[in-house]
Amino acid sequence: MKITRWERVRKGLLRFGRKNIICRFLVMPLLVIVMFFFHTAAYLRANSKRLATLAMTFCLFVIYSSFSFPLFISGDGKGIRQIVRETDSDVELAPESELSAEDMAILADEDVLEQEELAEGYGSHGADGGEQYDADEILASLEGRGRTGGAKEREDVSESVVESPRETFDRSDWRLVLINKQHAIPKDYTFNLATIVDRLKCDERILDDVVDMLQAAENDGIHLTIRSPYRTHDYQVMLFQRKIDRYMKRGMSYMEAYQLSSQAVTLPGYSEHEVGLALDIVCDSYTLLEEGFGDTEAGKWLAANSYRYGFILRYPKGKEYYTGIEYEPWHFRYVGVEAATYITGHGITLEEFWEEL
Ligand SMILES: [Zn+2]
Repeated sequence: MKITRWERVRKGLLRFGRKNIICRFLVMPLLVIVMFFFHTAAYLRANSKRLATLAMTFCLFVIYSSFSFPLFISGDGKGIRQIVRETDSDVELAPESELSAEDMAILADEDVLEQEELAEGYGSHGADGGEQYDADEILASLEGRGRTGGAKEREDVSESVVESPRETFDRSDWRLVLINKQHAIPKDYTFNLATIVDRLKCDERILDDVVDMLQAAENDGIHLTIRSPYRTHDYQVMLFQRKIDRYMKRGMSYMEAYQLSSQAVTLPGYSEHEVGLALDIVCDSYTLLEEGFGDTEAGKWLAANSYRYGFILRYPKGKEYYTGIEYEPWHFRYVGVEAATYITGHGITLEEFWEEL
């Protein structure tokens, strides 16, 4: 019988396997490796065009991104601007504008521009929006107009009254209107302004509660100062535009400046101050809109008692995630006594409260 060459090789291998038993165990892994490379090679061959396209795409990506990511072309950390300058290109780029620590600190601060206005001398009873008056002046002025604060202490509204906020409160209630970075002032929102004193104004429906709160604080020996509760839309626009101008003077593009400004200043149409429901309250011994106010007697008194008069601490510490605004111990928002009692009692924010409605 004729034996083929392959047959001979096979027999030879079998004989080899019988004599060297250990080799049998090596054959399987060897086969696996051989098959792996065989299949990989086959796959690459079958998909060569597709893979070539992918490789080209990647190359193009690297080439293009080297124009936008300095990382690809500069290792000195100075980035593309440096290189453009060195190669004497006629492309004009804005100079580097790094934020100082001061700038970073003011980001996401609802009332920060207010603070700047005052610091620049627009303050106390000055230009539109920057006024501040203490409780004595306010109460005297109101008394002169025949309005007196309810000197009687307020009783607590029992919390058990509210079992289900969904049944008790209504999102369409004007007192509960939600205004923040995501929620603009509703188009159909209307209100009338009342004068607290001089150009200091608020929604007329909350004036009684404001007066009662100031009077109650006075009775407890706390002398509060109110700063620019109501801001006109134009004033908010002016604050915003000013901030943009400042950033642009430092060489930022309009878009960059706009973006940073919108972090630092509340966008016009998105501020509670524009509907006269927010008050910035400080005291005679601490007139700055700064975190430290929270540690003063007045700050503590407000945090503990303002709910009795329908106010909540709008931007509490540790709730930045919900409010999007840093801790502001001076910024109080009117929501009505019942809602304020519920919100303060449960230690939540207006945003969280809305979730429950
Ligand atoms: Zn405020």
